[in-house]
Amino acid sequence: MLSQLGDDAKLLAGGQSLIPLMKLRFANPAHLIDLNFIAGTSYIHNANSALRFGPLTRHAEIENSDIPARIPILYDCAAGIADVQVRNRGTIGGSLAEADPSGDWAVVLSTLATQVRCLGKNGERTVHLKDFIQDAYTTALAHDELVSEVVVDIPAKGSGGAYLAFKRAAPVYPTASAAVQLTMDGNVCKDAAIALGCVGLTAIKAKDAEAALRGRPISERTLSAVAEAARAAADPQSDMRGSADYKRTLVGALVRRAITIAVRRARGEHVEVSHLYA
Ligand SMILES: Cc1cc2nc3c(=O)[nH]c(=O)nc-3n(C[C@H](O)[C@H](O)[C@H](O)COP(=O)(O)OP(=O)(O)OC[C@H]3O[C@@H](n4cnc5c(N)ncnc54)[C@H](O)[C@@H]3O)c2cc1C
Repeated sequence: MLSQLGDDAKLLAGGQSLIPLMKLRFANPAHLIDLNFIAGTSYIHNANSALRFGPLTRHAEIENSDIPARIPILYDCAAGIADVQVRNRGTIGGSLAEADPSGDWAVVLSTLATQVRCLGKNGERTVHLKDFIQDAYTTALAHDELVSEVVVDIPAKGSGGAYLAFKRAAPVYPTASAAVQLTMDGNVCKDAAIALGCVGLTAIKAKDAEAALRGRPISERTLSAVAEAARAAADPQSDMRGSADYKRTLVGALVRRAITIAVRRARGEHVEVSHLYA
């Protein structure tokens, strides 16, 4: 239908980004193709060391599945998105396809090995998440392609992660956020992935911060160096949510806290967290 109807057609998933944009007249598609009528597009499968999410899998389904026990950072993300109404409708596929700079999924999934399967008239292809989101509101999808599955590798044993966002209220996007996924060997961090949200046009992979953590013992000195590198990696804009300086400081503090929680989870501790509210 996408290729038949051309550029004037848009896919409708949960409608939690598209419908508000249509109400504001920022989007005005001539045709809506409702994916909700396609059976079998909402699922979470666990097979071959990977989790496979159907494109129409709602945030609430992920929040309420038993997946969090395996990868708690996914629970942090799903459970922290807006409010119950948005989580009951919004989908993981729609969130990645929208590529909103403030969206949570892209930040969290970029700390995990994530691939996006894209289906079009000419077949299916697999795109790494880092290549899928190209800019704010811009993805590698062709007009006649859709996200058909999101595949996330299950992290190695001894891994833990945490996602923390700072928000003014639950049903709004974060002011800044930080996702940390690491693998521990005793007190030494063997591997680390750190991503920052809402402080750039896309999720920012804080590579210098990751390097400051990898191979180091978890100490006050390491945490300070990682937080400093995260602050330097951020590229925020001043807006109604805060000044650029404020957001930079915030993101350093969030990274520091997220590491502390991720380390405890990597050691097998059950740690419940929620986002922080102003
Ligand atoms: C009040 C409010 C607060 C919110 N707060 C947050 C928040 O804090 N954090 C957060 O991450 N999100 C937030 N959201 C957004 C929410 O998570 C959306 O669910 C998500 O961004 C889009 O998913 P959707 O399924 O609703 O997509 P839709 O709105 O249906 O579609 C979004 C776009 O993606 C396209 N699309 C949808 N599915 C596919 C597919 N399978 N393949 C290709 N293209 C597709 C559509 O054509 C459209 O262009 C909020 C939304 C609202 C209304």
